[in-house]
Amino acid sequence: MPALNSLLQQKLQDLEKTQQKRAPMAVVRKPGGYVEVAGRQLLSFSCNDYLGLTHHLEVIAAAKEALVRYGAGAGASRLISGSHPFYEELESALSEHKKTEAACVFGSGYLANLGTIPALVGAGDLIVADKLSHACLLDAAKLSGAKLIRFAHNDMKHCKDLLEKYRADYRNCLLVTETIFSMDGDMAPLAELNALAAQYDSWLLTDDAHGLYVAAETPHQSHIQVGTLSKALASYGGYVCGSAQLIDMIKSSARSLIYSTALPPATLAASLAALRVVAAQPELAQTALASARYFAKQMGLSQAQSCIVPLIVGSSEQALNLSKALEENGFYVKAIRPPTVPENTARLRFTFSAYHTQDQIDALVAALKGAL
Ligand SMILES: *Cc1c(COP(=O)(O)O)cnc(C)c1O
Repeated sequence: MPALNSLLQQKLQDLEKTQQKRAPMAVVRKPGGYVEVAGRQLLSFSCNDYLGLTHHLEVIAAAKEALVRYGAGAGASRLISGSHPFYEELESALSEHKKTEAACVFGSGYLANLGTIPALVGAGDLIVADKLSHACLLDAAKLSGAKLIRFAHNDMKHCKDLLEKYRADYRNCLLVTETIFSMDGDMAPLAELNALAAQYDSWLLTDDAHGLYVAAETPHQSHIQVGTLSKALASYGGYVCGSAQLIDMIKSSARSLIYSTALPPATLAASLAALRVVAAQPELAQTALASARYFAKQMGLSQAQSCIVPLIVGSSEQALNLSKALEENGFYVKAIRPPTVPENTARLRFTFSAYHTQDQIDALVAALKGAL
């Protein structure tokens, strides 16, 4: 143990030197987008609760009722005794929304990708992924044992060149991307990717973690649609939508589904309630996107394509300083640094939610301009 600890000590010091040492800070989220951090109340632009539903009274009431009725935990994995009937209801709602035959709900978005990709491809197969794909897509690709190659972000020429060069040497091929990129807020060219998938006899997997119920639905269906219930739907869990065969196969073989405890019924009830709220108030999504666009315009940035607006500043130190200056003005905006984003692209990542008002955004813009 002492040898292990001294080795870890050395590694931690290295992380500290490059400003990459991290530790979660205690944060209490409150209604209306406020957070309490170290005894101070700040307005957050760093939550993925795009529709502001984590504190919606109907969502809380549904979770509370399920908690009292069905207990705190699921008791076992879904294939044993943990598959509460809420799962079926949630899967029907998701597949209906995505216009697919079926859906499967997982413990989280991370687990959905980790289970799905290795269930579809393995040694002898090829994965061609966007360079900026979320860590869990890349982890899943590595876990699958398939050959992983990456194309430059949203660069369809590069993607096509790679397919041309490598596709014929492998049995099956999976194209992987996000619909809305989590750190940049931009969209993937899904029409082009679909065409490439057809041309090169490949399947397209898209991760819609930041698009579900927030971005405009595209008419371009990918074969495998992954996402999370933890962002716009305000709760916790992940999902995959697709054909009946795809979902049957995943339910029979995705290891992160089979060997992990099912979600607590109260969590499923919260997701179901969030879906009811969105159905009744579709304008919530428009509000969040309009706020992101307003902010980007005030800051002279290009038009926001989603609720995520990055302000790329370069060094980790600059990003941290800017975050600190905003905190002094009452705003909570986390700096995002390498290795989460590429070297020299440290940034402030602003996320907008339905609860933000124009006055609040004006105050944020004033503070940000002052700090810059
Ligand atoms: C947040 C996110 C995930 C992970 O989802 P969780 O439910 O939080 O595990 C997966 N993919 C992308 C693109 C994400 O942004």
